[in-house]
Amino acid sequence: MGGKELNALVTQRIEHAPGLVTLRVIPDGWELPDFTPGQFTVLGLPASAPREPTSDPEPPPAKPDKMIVRAYSISSSSKSKEYLEFYISLVRSGELTPRIFNLTIGDRVYLSPKFRGFFTLENVPADKNVVLVATGTGLAPYMSMIRSELNRESRRKFAVIHGAYHSWDLGYYRELAGLERCSSNFTYFPIISEPQEEPGGWTGRAGFVQKVWTGGELAEVWGKQPTPEDTDVYLCGHPDMIEDFEKILQAEGFTEHTRKQPGQYHLERYW
Ligand SMILES: Cc1cc2nc3c(=O)[nH]c(=O)nc-3n(C[C@H](O)[C@H](O)[C@H](O)COP(=O)(O)OP(=O)(O)OC[C@H]3O[C@@H](n4cnc5c(N)ncnc54)[C@H](O)[C@@H]3O)c2cc1C
Repeated sequence: MGGKELNALVTQRIEHAPGLVTLRVIPDGWELPDFTPGQFTVLGLPASAPREPTSDPEPPPAKPDKMIVRAYSISSSSKSKEYLEFYISLVRSGELTPRIFNLTIGDRVYLSPKFRGFFTLENVPADKNVVLVATGTGLAPYMSMIRSELNRESRRKFAVIHGAYHSWDLGYYRELAGLERCSSNFTYFPIISEPQEEPGGWTGRAGFVQKVWTGGELAEVWGKQPTPEDTDVYLCGHPDMIEDFEKILQAEGFTEHTRKQPGQYHLERYW
């Protein structure tokens, strides 16, 4: 297995909807290093691990011991030292996720002890507001940021804009809606793109995440349209959303933050 052992255990598996889970994973016999909210690590399973039944079939693996590894953002708080949580969607044609979706409580998995990435709040001044925009499992790094950093003393305002196809794909809805009720500096904007498919009808927000920004809804809650001077924006999720939102932000004077060139919007690309 190229030196990679199945060094961690699954201790919780919550299925939000078909093809959408949160997994809690604990290290087996080693300590989790510290991480910064927004960072990712790597999960892996051997090619011999079975695929979940609704995923596309594959021929028997040529190298059954080969470890298949992929990056996953950590969704748990950096204050939780015992476990890591991940928010994962099933890619039925994919290599790793069909195997991950077959895991049950007590199963073993490879968890990299190296936590990486710069998609964090570290370089944002404490008095700047933060808008966290996601589609699908792009919400994962924001859950870690919110769970770790939202507190009453914080001067900054946080907004999460989360887009999904259906209401049942809005994982963490209850937690985020609850946080919004308890925190004066946090606003949650869930939005779905296929309201016509809701069996009970839909009276909530419908469309794409961009609409919350361009339609003035965020500006209404915050009392003004965010500017590069007072707000940093994070984008994570579907590549089309990232591309489209970037254009909107650039037209309003925001520039991309890179390690070499500080800016006011930050990107994490899953694929
Ligand atoms: C920094 C980073 C953090 C990530 N964090 C997460 C996370 O928190 N949760 C999560 O579900 N995924 C996350 N991903 C994506 C993850 O690494 C895998 O690419 C994904 O789980 C698919 O793996 P697979 O082996 O099943 O599919 P593969 O065999 O690798 O096929 C990938 C292909 O599936 C398609 N695809 C459809 N939906 C997705 C999707 N959601 N992600 C990736 N590819 C998709 C794309 O066309 C892509 O080229 C992250 C990726 C990166 C780079």
